[in-house]
Order: sequence, then C-alpha cells, then structure tokens
Amino acid sequence: MTFINKEDFKRDFKNKYLQIHGEEYTSGTLEEKYVALGFLVREYITKQWIETKKSYDKDKKQVYYFSMEFLLGKLLSTSLINLGIRECLKEGLKELNIDLEELEEVEEDQGLGNGGLGRLAACFLDSMASVNIIGNGCGIRYKYGFFRQKIVDGYQVEMPDHWLKGRNVWEIKKSNKGIIVKFGGKVKVDSDNGRLIFTHINYEPVLAIPYDTPIVGYKNGIVNTLRLWSAEPLNNEFDYLAFSRGEYLKAIEYKNSVEAISQVLYPDDNYLEGRVLRLKQQYFFVSAGIQSIIRHFKKNNNDIKELNNKIAIHINDTHPSLAIPELMRILLDEEGLSFEEAFYITENTISYTNHTIMKEALEKWPVDMFKSILPRIYMIIEELNERFCKKLWDKYYGEWDKISRMAIISNSNIHMAHLAIVGSHSVNGVAKLHTEILKKEEMKEFHKFYNEKFNNKTNGITHRRWLMKINPSLTRVINESIGEEWIKEPERLIDFKDYVKDKDIINSLKVIKLKNKIALSNFIKESMNIDIDPRSIFDTQVKRIHGYKRQLLNVFNILDSYNRIINGQGEDIHPRTFIFGGKAAPGYLFAKKIIKLINSVAYVVNNDKRVSDKIKVVFLENYRVSLGEIIIPASEVSEQISTASKEASGTSNMKFMMNGALTIATLDGANIEILDRVGKENIITFGLSAKEVIEYYKTGNYNSRDEINKDNRIKIIIDQLSNPKFNKDFSDFQVIYHNLITANDEFFVLKDFNEYIKAQDTINSLYKDENRWNEISGVNIASSGFFSSDRTINQYKEDVWKV
Ligand SMILES: *Cc1c(COP(=O)(O)O)cnc(C)c1O
Repeated sequence: MTFINKEDFKRDFKNKYLQIHGEEYTSGTLEEKYVALGFLVREYITKQWIETKKSYDKDKKQVYYFSMEFLLGKLLSTSLINLGIRECLKEGLKELNIDLEELEEVEEDQGLGNGGLGRLAACFLDSMASVNIIGNGCGIRYKYGFFRQKIVDGYQVEMPDHWLKGRNVWEIKKSNKGIIVKFGGKVKVDSDNGRLIFTHINYEPVLAIPYDTPIVGYKNGIVNTLRLWSAEPLNNEFDYLAFSRGEYLKAIEYKNSVEAISQVLYPDDNYLEGRVLRLKQQYFFVSAGIQSIIRHFKKNNNDIKELNNKIAIHINDTHPSLAIPELMRILLDEEGLSFEEAFYITENTISYTNHTIMKEALEKWPVDMFKSILPRIYMIIEELNERFCKKLWDKYYGEWDKISRMAIISNSNIHMAHLAIVGSHSVNGVAKLHTEILKKEEMKEFHKFYNEKFNNKTNGITHRRWLMKINPSLTRVINESIGEEWIKEPERLIDFKDYVKDKDIINSLKVIKLKNKIALSNFIKESMNIDIDPRSIFDTQVKRIHGYKRQLLNVFNILDSYNRIINGQGEDIHPRTFIFGGKAAPGYLFAKKIIKLINSVAYVVNNDKRVSDKIKVVFLENYRVSLGEIIIPASEVSEQISTASKEASGTSNMKFMMNGALTIATLDGANIEILDRVGKENIITFGLSAKEVIEYYKTGNYNSRDEINKDNRIKIIIDQLSNPKFNKDFSDFQVIYHNLITANDEFFVLKDFNEYIKAQDTINSLYKDENRWNEISGVNIASSGFFSSDRTINQYKEDVWKV
C-alpha cells in the first residue's frame, strides 16, 4: 500500500525545498524544512484526496459534521502514520541529516476549540475517514484560536493565539467557492397566486470563503475534507461604499464588522455568554455550510426531495442548530417546497448531540436581538414553534405550563436545545449516564413526546493519535504480543488481557512508563526548572478549569497530605507528583482563583524541605493537545473527579486509560463505563452518586457547614486558604471561601472530601506492589478498545446516519 520509497522521497524533498525556498535544503532552518516537508506531504495526500472525491458514488450517502470547534492539534505526524509512510520518511530524512521529530515539533497546534467538545470533533473526523465514511467537517476558520495561557506570579494571563502567523501548509483556500450569507435587513412578503413569496432586502452581505484541510484515513486511501469558513467583505460592496459615494470610513467599518465574524474563538466552555457576535458566527458557518451542501447536491441530483437519502447533517451541540431553519429556508424560499415537505426533509436529514445538562450552558437567544439579525430565520422558527405547540396542545390539552416549558420560543427567548430536538430525527447523549439523565430528568418531557428520537452514543477517542502516535513503545509491545489487527479493530485490544500477568509484559510496561515519566520530567525541568522524581507517582488532572471538574478537591487532598507529613503522620504516603494543566475562561473568576491557588500551594509545598521528598506540585501552562500528548503517556493516576451528574462523558479519562493510568473517579460520565469494562478491582471510585447529587439539589438538604464542623482536617485546610504563608493576598481566596460556605459548596467538594482521601490512600497502598500495579495498568490498556472513536462512529453510522 506504500506509494513512496525512500529514494523517491529524498529526491522529492530536495526538489520541493528548492522550489519553495530557492536554495539547497542543507542551509535551511527547521521552520523552512518543516514547510517544505509539509507541502510535499500535502502533495502526496492530494493524489488520494482527488481519488476519494472521484470515487464518490452518486448514490452513496455523505455525512457532514457541523461543529463550532475542531481541536485538531498538530497534523503532520498523524497524517504520516495514517498514510503509512512515517517510518519511510523518517529514515529518508535521517539520511539527509534531518530529524523528523524535530520538524514535527515546529508545527503550530491547530487549536480551534476549547476542550472536549472540539477534540471530539477532531477524533470523529479521523475515525470517519478511517472507517471509510465520506464524512466532511464544517466549521469556522478562526483567525485566533483558543488563547495562549501564561502563568505570571501564579495568575493566568491570556495572550492571543496567532496560529496562522507562520504558514498553514494543510489548508487550501477555495476562492471560487465563496458563498454569500445575509444579515440584518427586512423581509418583504408578497403573494403570488395565493402563495407567499419572501424576499430578504436591505441585508448586509458577508462573503464566506472556504478553506479545505485534508483528513487522511488510516491506510485505506481515503482522504476526507474539513471545510472551515472565513468571513470576508464583499469586494464590490467594499469598493462601492468607499469610492462611489465617498464613504470611506463606512467602508472600513463594514470591512471590520465582517471580518470580526471569524476573528476569534469564544473561550467559554460549558457556559453561554449570549453575545451578538457569537450568534452571527453560528449563522455564518451554518448558512455557508448548508448552502454549499445544497449547491453540491444539485450538481449530482435533480430531485431535492431525495436530500435526506443522500445527505446526513450532524450538529455537535446546539451551536450549529440554526442548520434547521436555514435548511428550511432554502427548501421553502429557493426550492419552493411546502412547509410540511420542507420539514420532513429537514427532520430526516439532521441529527443532534447534546453535550451538557448544565443550565448555565444551555443556549438561548432573546427574540428581539435574534429577529433584528436574522429576520427570515426568525419567521421560520416562529412557524416551527407554532406548529410544534399545536401538536403539544392536541396531546396535552389545557396543560399550559407543560406546553410553555417545551416550546421553542418562551419568555421572549428562543431555546436552541428545543429547536434542535424538534428539528432533528435523532437526539443523543454522550455516555450512558448522561443519556439516562436526559431521558429521566432534564428532557423527560421531550423524551415522553419523542421517545424514538433519543439514543446514546458513548464518546470515544482516536487510538491512532492517543496511543499509536504518543506512545510508540507501548504500541510496539501490544503489537508484539497480540499482532496488529487491533489497529483496524480496536476492540480486539482486549486480547492483550491474556498477557497482563506475564512477567516480561509487566516488566515492559514498567520500563515504558518510566521512560515516558523521565521524558516528562525533562520537559518540566526545561520549561519550569522544577526537579521532579521519576520514581514518584505521577498523578494528573489536565482539563478545563471549572467548578464542576473539582480541581479544588484535588488541592484539598494535596493540602491534607502536606499537613499529615508535617505532623509526622505521612509514613504511608508514597512520593507523588501532582500535575495540573488547564485554562480558565477569562471571565470566570472562581476558575482563575483555582489556578492561583494551585500555584500558591505548589510554591509552599515545593519549597518546604520537610515534604520535598514526598510531594511536588506542578502547574504546566498552556494546556493543549500537544502538551497532553507528552503528559498522558507519563501519567499513572488519572484524576476524573467531577461532581457526579455534571460531566456528560469526559474523554481525557479514556486517553489516560489507554496509556495505562489507573483512574480515580466519581461515578460520572464515561467513568461508569470504564468501571464496567475494567471491573471494580482495576479502578478506584468514590463519592456521591449522580442520583444523590440530583436529590440534594432537589431537596436542598445539604449544608456545607456541617461538613466543616464534622471534620477537623477540612477546618484546618479552610483556615490555610487565608494563611498569608499560602498567599500574600488573602483576598485572592475569598471567592473560593465564598463558594464553599456562602454558596453552600455547590459542587460538593466538602461532602466528597473524606471518601476522596480514602481513595487516595488506596492508591498509596496499591502502588507498593509494583507488579500488581502494572498488571492493573495492563488491564486498563486492554479494556480501552471500546473507547476508540471508531466504535462510536460505527454506531452513529448504523443507528443515526444510516450510510
Ligand atoms: C481530551 C482533551 C480535553 C478534554 O478533557 P476532559 O478531561 O474530558 O474534560 C480537553 N482539552 C484537550 C487539549 C484535550 O486533548
């Protein structure tokens, strides 16, 4: 299947270098070599890309995955692995005195996402291509991705992520495939023989230009497309304003307001800020995406009523839910279908994934704001709402409260989740528990009404990046024991379970983990000048900083260990390095104070001789995909300690497990399914159940002060928060104090404290038996195949997209 040999590659590389840089490769910088290699690899990919496009069977259904975020990370090495040419190129480059891994480092992370949701979209693209689905991504080409985080004096500082400042070797601008998206203006209604004609007038046009990035499937010759849209002013509009009427400033204003649309990714995760620009972003890429799908569809098909048999559109959370009224608009206003016909096609084309039940994250838009930006789309939503409410009325005659709870429009707001449920044929949660909570709590009325729409699709991660790429030594050991079939059928990783008691395998697992730990230690030494002991337990919590993820609980355990050691009661505590990483939303004060607290605790702990041979704390700045790739293979304890019911699935839990870490977990999200697969001897769980948490919220029977009064350890730790030794600026932690006491500890940190400490003690005693520990580690690796996103994608394919 390899289409290139080493000698041809060396020749191609030298030529490409010469062609781009106008000189011999020998004198070039790493950046220049990376650019030449990148363009050459894209050329190799392009041959398969064109073949894939040609092979589109006109009768074959295509999937479009709409997402506001795609957190791809770096693409060079995974593309080479998937093409099956990485080893060949590595050797070829070596003969030219070039280290491939150094070039791979040069690439900027493509960080167009906040966290799990965006990374999921990236894993799904990889899996769609690898399991032979014609599946395209559709999103926004943000000029600035997720901000870069610096830690200054313990505080987070946000810097712009100007990821396009170098050359993006992967994207191809398709200037001739621009689409016009219309904002503002008015809708003129005329009647033609009793039929209403809607004309959008006086709108502001925005030109959407697509940039295509190839997504390479694993050794199958398939290359799919991620299409990201960039907002540009319409040239004639710009020139017309500027020069014909002398309205120069107005023209510049127009240009700026248009370009603002794809300027920056909003840095909020699981939170809605409700900004006008965000709504514009959503409509912008959805409208461009749907219009281009229809344009392409009509090239190959003459019956628009066939659309739902040829196209599946998936929306990643409610962010792209305007796909529903936008598709309706085209079917009604441009294709001339009746409302019933248009709705039938739309509902059967679109499917929706819900990602959270947290109220503060549920999208809603004020009617007045929405109407002025998207007048025609508003009319369509209004009609969808009226028709839906009529149906509700027929079924629930007289139950006004219920009908207004379920309506798409109520209290002068448009509820996007309701729109998404009504307008799609499938609604799924992302882990068993999450789906159950949707069905029985959050969306129980919708579930009753639309029983058949609801289903579960437990998230996954691509094992090609999160195992093969980042842990080649472990991959080799697996291949040597069970062969390579698992790569195409990841659930066969379970065969590795037969080997986990084998002395040699256990020894290999030890050696590999130590090697990865040393690599991370070196990275930490270089980047932060902190010495950590590779023989200590590497205990990691890397994810967005958020109240519900409870980094605070982790900190409480560290402080408790510190206090025990100081008081001479730490003999059972095995040396441990606590590793943190993650960004806080710039406007989320509590989360920012958590970062400061972690760094303050790190300062105290790391500088106290009495504990320095037992515990160390490290906060690694600017957590992102490529940093995760270094941290995860080196970790031994995976902290998945969210307040039960709050984490819809989690995906870093899967990445850690696949690399042999033991999970310390609450019974939340996909942790429960990890437990199901590894068995209770191979995971450490603790804390309130989702049921108990939900019950507490309902009854209000929780009082955080009781926990403080009951437990002297908690009292001491809370006092330490205001101790000047831990922080020069006492006021820093008032927000945290307030959250625990005045706000009654909304995430149950204090309630779960005791069980969490006990769970951590279990880890200390388990770690004493190195062989047993590594056997458990092996069971985790062997059981992780289910969490490959290939499995998730195949389930979507069978149950939802029907391709
Ligand atoms: C996987 C991943 C996440 C998601 O982590 P969770 O622990 O599931 O929230 C966030 N950020 C990055 C960079 C990731 O790779």
